Amino acid sequence: MNIGNLEVKAGEKQSGFIKVDGCGYEMPVTVICAGEGKTALITAGVHNAEYVGIQAAIELAREITPEQIEGTVIIVPLVNVSGFVRRTASMVYEDGKNLNREFPGAVNGTVADQICHTVVSKLFSKADFYVDLHSGDCYEDLRSYAYYVGPAEAGVREKSFQMARRVKAGCLVESQCTTGGAYNYASTIGIPSILIERGGRGLWSREEVDQDKEDVKRILAFLGILKDYVEEPEPVKETLLFQDAVYENAPETGCWYPAFKPGDFFKKDDVLGSVRDYFGNTLHVCRAKDDGMILYQVASLNVLKDGPMVAYGIQPKKVADE
Ligand SMILES: [Zn+2]
Repeated sequence: MNIGNLEVKAGEKQSGFIKVDGCGYEMPVTVICAGEGKTALITAGVHNAEYVGIQAAIELAREITPEQIEGTVIIVPLVNVSGFVRRTASMVYEDGKNLNREFPGAVNGTVADQICHTVVSKLFSKADFYVDLHSGDCYEDLRSYAYYVGPAEAGVREKSFQMARRVKAGCLVESQCTTGGAYNYASTIGIPSILIERGGRGLWSREEVDQDKEDVKRILAFLGILKDYVEEPEPVKETLLFQDAVYENAPETGCWYPAFKPGDFFKKDDVLGSVRDYFGNTLHVCRAKDDGMILYQVASLNVLKDGPMVAYGIQPKKVADE
């Protein structure tokens, strides 16, 4: 298996850096190769201030050995390195772009485009399955859940759905988006892909990191890549499925006063929060468009015009047990 300038033979594990085409940036990567078989790609830090997944990926890369697997596991613990070292709120430092809106990228674009292009050309080209680890951003509060892409080709969609069911969060969201995001784009080129959301507010805890690691291991076991996994790779019971979600951006810059917490249920027309000016005058009242549950929302006092404010799943369904 060759990834960039890393040449990894069967039975080996190697860590190093791959070059970002066009700008000379480097991205950390660990390749664990047992030999012939399927390849799973795990990435974190596409949003650099989402620390739970980054730490989980660092630990998984250290702990998984070639003897424990069949095939290959590629782990990139930090995709947006320049944002991480300058502590941006998940934007690429050089161009202010959100990597998860720019896939598949372009080698002749700005740094974010080049990072996306490199992930596609050097990593997606090797991957049979893909798991991307995220959290709420450093200013967001979030309830844990997993995304898969609804409009993907039927076989890819079903495999992605089954991968997402191995995430022990009890909540799945079907994304209707096929462009821009890493896992969204990967799904459209035939790679069963999911995104795991856990944690937020720029924090990470041992418990959350361990939950992310167990989710990834359960998925790798389900895919037949991780052998001898101790816990039964059973799907989660009583999973809540949202096949549609509403993403509300702030219509004004100001102060944000949410009425609910992530995981709370509400009814259509309930007030989800309000935006006020610096004198406390109400600028906007956000009402629910349908019955649903808060997935994530801004936790900082400020919201920015046209930036994230609150996201919620609507019309929950219970997924039947297998
Ligand atoms: Zn994210």
